[in-house]
Parts: sequence; structure tokens; C-alpha cells
Amino acid sequence: MAEKTATTLSLIGGALCLDFVNTVEDYRSESPYEYLTNFADLASWGHHAGVLTSQLAQELTETAAGRREEAARIYQCAFELRSALYRVFAAQLISRKPRADDLAMLNERLGEALSRGRLKPTEDHYVWYWKSEADDLVQILYPIVRSAADLLTSDRLARLSECVECGWLFIDMSKNRSRRWCSMGVCGNRAKARRHYQRKHDVES
Ligand SMILES: [Zn+2]
Repeated sequence: MAEKTATTLSLIGGALCLDFVNTVEDYRSESPYEYLTNFADLASWGHHAGVLTSQLAQELTETAAGRREEAARIYQCAFELRSALYRVFAAQLISRKPRADDLAMLNERLGEALSRGRLKPTEDHYVWYWKSEADDLVQILYPIVRSAADLLTSDRLARLSECVECGWLFIDMSKNRSRRWCSMGVCGNRAKARRHYQRKHDVES
């Protein structure tokens, strides 16, 4: 089985913010698996998820190595943002309002991100980019926060769903909203194997 790292992680969320939330596996279990253990992991994941060029990811990792305290602070910030996003989306899944402190934090980060957001034309439309210094470590959070704001204000939010096995979040675009697992290959098979084992066990006991 492939090594579980920030750069081998499946990006199945259907939105960047969900892929970010999905950098923990088995969120609700007693021993969740953590893919992001420091700023360097965060930068590698940022490249893997397509929000940082490999050069920028490399530069930010080098900057972080020389500015450890700041890098630890931004990592902590990312960690808290991810927890808040998880709770906001988990609340949405059961049609609840988010916690006030989670929403306040998301709004604060959104304010920072939007103040750096700019538009530039491409061939036939425009794209966002983030005006920040090349060594600005926090820039990795801007696209994530924007993705969360986009999803929370979009019709696609109604299709938010959760893997019944591992708790990963995704946008269920299936016709009948019948997708149960993050991926058939991993969690679908895990569930099948367990059912098979249980049936066998029931017969033998
Ligand atoms: Zn799963």
C-alpha cells in the first residue's frame, strides 16, 4: 500500500476546502490519522492540491525552515481553520447552524483573504489570484478560505455528504445522491470486506 502522506492523499472532495478538511482520516475516531504534521506538509499538500506551484511550495518550505516560530503559528492557524471548517460543514450535514466562534474565525480569515484577492484576465474569462509577497506563509490559506466561502454560498452545498466509513466530506454529484463512500476502491471495499467477515462469522458461530 502506498505511503500515506500529504502528497499521496486522494482529492475526492469536489471542492478545495473539502479536500483540505479531508487531510485527516477517521476524524471522529479516537485515533484520527493526521496528514499535515507541520508547515512543510501544508506546503506539499498545497502543491498536490494545485494551489501552489512546485516552485512556490519549495520556496515557502525554505522560508518556513528559516522562520520557525512564524511557520508554527501559521500551521496552528491552518489547523484551527480546518477544525472550524469541519465543524461548520458537519453542522450543515445535520441542518444545524454553525458555532458562533467557528463562523467568526472563518469570517476573519475571509476578510484577510479577500483583501488580497485580485482578478486577472485569461484568454476568455478571469481568474482570481492573491496579491502577496512571495515569502508570505499565510497565502496558502487564502484559496482554501475562498473555496469555503464559495461552497457555503452555492447550491452545491445541498449535495454535501460524508463517507459512512471514514468521515471524509464530499460533494455528492450522483443522480440520486446515493454515494455512500469517499471512494469505492478504499472505503467501499472496506465496508464490503467487513460485511463479508461478519456474515462468515455469523455462519460459523
Ligand atoms: Zn471514506
